Amino acid sequence: MEEKTASGELLVGLEIHQQLACSTKLFCRCPPVKSEALPYNFERRLRPAQSETGGVDPAAVFEFAKGRSNRYFWSPESSCLVEADEEPPHPLSAEALDSALLVARTLGSVIVDEIHVMRKIVIDGSNTGGFQRTAVVGLGGSIDVGGVKVGVQSVTLEEDAARILGEDSASRHFGLDRLGVALVEVALAPVKGDPELVGKVALYLGRVLRSTGRVARGLGTIRQDLNVSLSGGRVIEVKGVQKLNLLPRVVEYERARQAALVQVATRLREKGVKQVACAATEVTQVASESGSKVLRGKAAEGGKVVAVCASGLRGLLGWEPSPGMRLGKEVAEVARANSLGGIIHSDEFERQGIGQKEEVLLRKLADAGEEDAVVLVAGPPNQVDACVPRVVERLREAVAGVPAETRAATDAGETRYMRPRPGSQRMYPETDIPNIGVTGEMLAALARSVPENWEARVSKLADAYSLSEDMALKLFDSELDAEFEALARELKLEPSVVASVLVDVPARLAREGVPQAALGLEVLSETLRSVARGSVAKEAVPEVLKAVGSSGRSVDDAIRSLGLEMADEQKIRAVIASVLMDHAELVREKGDAAFAPLMGEVMKELRGRADGAMVAKVLREELLQSRGNLSGQS
Ligand SMILES: [Zn+2]
Repeated sequence: MEEKTASGELLVGLEIHQQLACSTKLFCRCPPVKSEALPYNFERRLRPAQSETGGVDPAAVFEFAKGRSNRYFWSPESSCLVEADEEPPHPLSAEALDSALLVARTLGSVIVDEIHVMRKIVIDGSNTGGFQRTAVVGLGGSIDVGGVKVGVQSVTLEEDAARILGEDSASRHFGLDRLGVALVEVALAPVKGDPELVGKVALYLGRVLRSTGRVARGLGTIRQDLNVSLSGGRVIEVKGVQKLNLLPRVVEYERARQAALVQVATRLREKGVKQVACAATEVTQVASESGSKVLRGKAAEGGKVVAVCASGLRGLLGWEPSPGMRLGKEVAEVARANSLGGIIHSDEFERQGIGQKEEVLLRKLADAGEEDAVVLVAGPPNQVDACVPRVVERLREAVAGVPAETRAATDAGETRYMRPRPGSQRMYPETDIPNIGVTGEMLAALARSVPENWEARVSKLADAYSLSEDMALKLFDSELDAEFEALARELKLEPSVVASVLVDVPARLAREGVPQAALGLEVLSETLRSVARGSVAKEAVPEVLKAVGSSGRSVDDAIRSLGLEMADEQKIRAVIASVLMDHAELVREKGDAAFAPLMGEVMKELRGRADGAMVAKVLREELLQSRGNLSGQS
């Protein structure tokens, strides 16, 4: 109850960026391939420009203040002069536009009358031109996730950014192969309350997108961003959740973090602090004699130390309203995003080796009162000068609770401060690309291409081939449903066997660490055909695929070298004759009832490398005949 009144309700908006399956990039005719080698490079430095309305984007200023250049690595196989921003963009890819429109139509969005390509300012270096091209194609619509209706806000066609390769102190390194790849962005209306629901919504939307057959598959082709807020609070943008199963954890982390910050703000209000006043004083002279090893080190390196006095914050920087969530940690993240190692604040002075005497001195120098906190920022002088205003800004935000920020999701399902949230001055028209009218014919063609609802598709697949819903869903998720249907029709095999070889066996081998590269659809189909021909038993398929996957041998080679060829009828008859001879007594005593134990013996002799139905048929014939012979002898 208390948390609810303190922090309000959790609201989560999901934004999915899905790569489209296209033969070219969005504004040039380069193929959207990942280049292993990027042999050429060039350097650029971007600066924030005023937008047409005269404002300057805070996110742009933030990135520029870091003062680094960008180095772009490229290969002619995946980039041209368009990516280098040396040549105007080519016309928008009609293939990509058609796919984005189909996605919008499938989500029930209203298609816009005219496609306007806009430039969105991006100054983190991930676009050579300092902007990303983007075009809204649809507005509105909804999906129904297990009875929960989730609104679609917009469907946008956009170009992907350059791939971050790494950085050094002078520049950030990017790969141009990803720049310009066509993406569709779907922004959903916020859903209330439940982190688990967010995971389900993302999974559902991913399936809707796949049902169009127009999206790229594989690792790194889908990326989720989240907008998380507690009702009444400011919205936090969380970028780059790559794995679907991390979504609920990231949301839960954000909820706890934001609730903790709201509690800090409440505590401040209770103390009567309406505004956190901050004053910065250089205290470098104290550092060389400091009890803190970190400060002494900075001083020895010729660094600068600034003490920021933050009024009313004493005790609140180190306070943990929930495990691991502290205002001090937030301020340290801001310092880290500004190229410093972190901060030292007065709630942790003792732990950092700063004794009482030194604290008294620091407080005196910083003019800090009993209730005030002191935050030390240390490092190379120019970096400290750039960082202090950011730290001051963050400390002042403490009274508001949750400041609007862009954060990055980590692999552990947490979030880290990246930069202030971009302002609204970040879009302007791309005048190099003419507007594209959406015609009646285009809309009619789209209406004909809308795919069947994926849930209906899965149910039908299960019904038509007597598969479990779970298996049908696995086929759909692995995007092998069409291939499955073709093989199930072509081959005289149980559909469940076909499905299992397509999805279950490769999954099991992957878990066992068998390399997957050689186990493509072609190899799986060939293996199934061998089973259908009777060249190998279905039971032997995992062993065959394991050999193919680990050795790169062909399916036939693997079957032969493992000695897994199926026994033909002649071989089966020979084995049965010998078994019957060895068990003549049993046949005499049990008659027809000898069938089951004999079947077991024969299969054991054949080591499973024979079709059970064929063995049973031949055994029945031979048994009948040998009983005739036996009765004739007696
Ligand atoms: Zn190109």
